[in-house]
Amino acid sequence: MKNTGPNTFTVPTLLLLLVLAACGPAAAGETLPTLAVFATSTATPHDPAELQPPFSSSSQAEGTAVINLGTPAATPTPGTVRFDVPPAIALVSAWRPPLYPVPWAPGPYDHFYFSRPIAADEVNWPLPSYRYGGVFFNNGQVHTGVDISAEYGSDVIAAGPGTVIWADWGLFIHDPGSPYGRAVVLRHDFGYQGQPLFTVYAHLSEIDVIAGQWLDTGGVLGNVGDTGHATGPHLHFEVRVGSDQFFATYNPELWMAPPQGWGVLVGRVMDTRNSRLASYEVFVDSNETGQRWTVRTYGSEAINPDPYYNENLVLSDLPAGIYTIHIYYGAFDRQAEVQIIPGRVTFFTFRGHTGYDAELPPTPNPAGLITPIP
Ligand SMILES: [Zn+2]
Repeated sequence: MKNTGPNTFTVPTLLLLLVLAACGPAAAGETLPTLAVFATSTATPHDPAELQPPFSSSSQAEGTAVINLGTPAATPTPGTVRFDVPPAIALVSAWRPPLYPVPWAPGPYDHFYFSRPIAADEVNWPLPSYRYGGVFFNNGQVHTGVDISAEYGSDVIAAGPGTVIWADWGLFIHDPGSPYGRAVVLRHDFGYQGQPLFTVYAHLSEIDVIAGQWLDTGGVLGNVGDTGHATGPHLHFEVRVGSDQFFATYNPELWMAPPQGWGVLVGRVMDTRNSRLASYEVFVDSNETGQRWTVRTYGSEAINPDPYYNENLVLSDLPAGIYTIHIYYGAFDRQAEVQIIPGRVTFFTFRGHTGYDAELPPTPNPAGLITPIP
C-alpha cells in the first residue's frame, strides 16, 4: 500500500446512532440541557429493540447523529451519591473475533491502519490499567503508548508494512539503560495526511531484525520480554505520526483495527468551562452484561489527541451493544446511554453541568497533527 490517505478508502456510510439519556441534574430548579433531537422515534432508551438504527445502512446519512433525550433516570439524592470503588478490572474475555481488515477507515477521518503487534490467537489488546495517556502512579509519567500483556518470548509482529529504522537497545541512541529496553521502530510504507507513520515495539527479549530490513504486516520482528523499565513481560507499543520522536505519539487504540463486530468509544471529557479534565475517572457499563470498564482521561503532558476527535478518552474493543457512561461530576452521577456499533467510533462530549453531547466534530482541528493539549 502506498501513501494512502484516509479519503481513498471506500467506507460504509453507517449511521452513528447515539442514544443519550441525560441524567443527573438534581439541584432544585436546574433544568435538563436542551439537545438537538433528530430522533424520529420516541424509543425508551432502555428497550434494546427500539435502539436499532431505524433504517438500513444504505439509506443512512453519514455523520448524522440521532440523539434521544430520555427521561432522566433515577436522580441521585445529594448526600447519598455513591462513589463506588469499581470492581477489579476484568478482561472482557480471553477471546476476540478476528480483526477488521486493514486499513479500516469507517469514517472520513478514521485511520485504523494497523493490525496488532501480537497475533490474534493470544491476548492482543491493551492492558486496561495503563492505556495511552495514563499516568503511572509510581513516577507520575504519562504513558505514551499501550501495553499488551503477553507471555515471555511470544512473537512480536509488524503492525503494518514498513522498514526497520531502529533495532537495538534504547531508542535511536544505543543505551542499555533505556526505559524502552530492546526496541524496534518501523517506518511504514504509507503515511497519514502526508505525514510519515512510525510504530515502536519495546521491552523485547530478542530482536530478530536489523535496521534497513523491510517487513510485511505480521512479520516477526522480535519476542516479548521485560527489558528496560518493565515490571513483567509485556509489549509496549506506540504509534508516532509526522516524526519518530517522543512527543509525536498518538493513541494506538485509534490506529489498531477493532475486532469484527466490535467498536470504539471516544470521548472528550471537560468541565463546564470547556477545560479538559485530566486523569478523570469514567465508568462504562454494558447494559447487557453489567460488565464495567474503568478508564481515565489522558494526563496532561507528552501526549496528543487525534486532530479530528480532539479526545481525551478512548476505550476500544467494546462488543457492540448499549452502554451506560457514568461520570461523577459536581457530586452527581452523570449518565448517558450510548450505542457501540460494529467497526465504528461512537463519539461523545461531556461538558460538566451542561452534560453530554453526541455531535461529531465537523472537520479536523486546523492546527492538524501534533496538537498539544491545552
Ligand atoms: Zn508501556
